[in-house]
Amino acid sequence: MGSRIDEVLARARDAGVEFIVLPADEPSSWDFVEKLSDGSFVLPALGLHPWMSDQPLDMGELRRRLAGCGAVAVGEIGLDRVVETPPFDVQLRCFESQLDLAMEVDLPMLLHCRKAFDDLEAVLRSRGGHFRGVVHAFSKTPDIAARFIEMGLHIAFGGAVTRPHARKARSSAAALPLDRIVLETDAPSIGMLGIPPESVEPAHVALAAGAVAELRGLSLEALGEATTGNARRLFRLA
Ligand SMILES: [Zn+2]
Repeated sequence: MGSRIDEVLARARDAGVEFIVLPADEPSSWDFVEKLSDGSFVLPALGLHPWMSDQPLDMGELRRRLAGCGAVAVGEIGLDRVVETPPFDVQLRCFESQLDLAMEVDLPMLLHCRKAFDDLEAVLRSRGGHFRGVVHAFSKTPDIAARFIEMGLHIAFGGAVTRPHARKARSSAAALPLDRIVLETDAPSIGMLGIPPESVEPAHVALAAGAVAELRGLSLEALGEATTGNARRLFRLA
């Protein structure tokens, strides 16, 4: 693997990151993520993201790949009403088929959702309403988070909580049960305070940790221990 990736991973370890769940969001990136995964520090997730949900998806191949590479999650999958394409009904079918697969193979889901929380909740409730997974890049109110926590899900915070004006995200990060919070960077899609999205890398999860720790009046160590433990349980890591 290239030296830049080695450096990025080394910086993550130096920042105290214990492992990284790395999603491959479309079939063309599944190979790359599988190769980068080492089963301990870089852990793969495979799926078809709602933005790419008009691509063909071979569910049999996804099922085989998830098992073959030791994937720890299915994702990112979900619903996005901010984008106009692919059309929502296409996103919905793609999400439902992968949700059903995740339940069948008993893997947690990495859930992507923008302006579609009512739709997401309705689909989940139609499937019985109890799941393992994470609503990622969460930036909404504690009330919205609570609807998903009630269904067994975790809430992931990243760049938004580092921004002083992200009031909803910060109020959720302060108020939600500590045992349901995990941290992420979503690199390179979401910026951190003072860092543009393309420069964000896994080491910067420490900035999100620092922001959440401060909001909750916890030490960085205590917050990191809690969120790392939550992620270990969620993804069933040793
Ligand atoms: Zn996403």
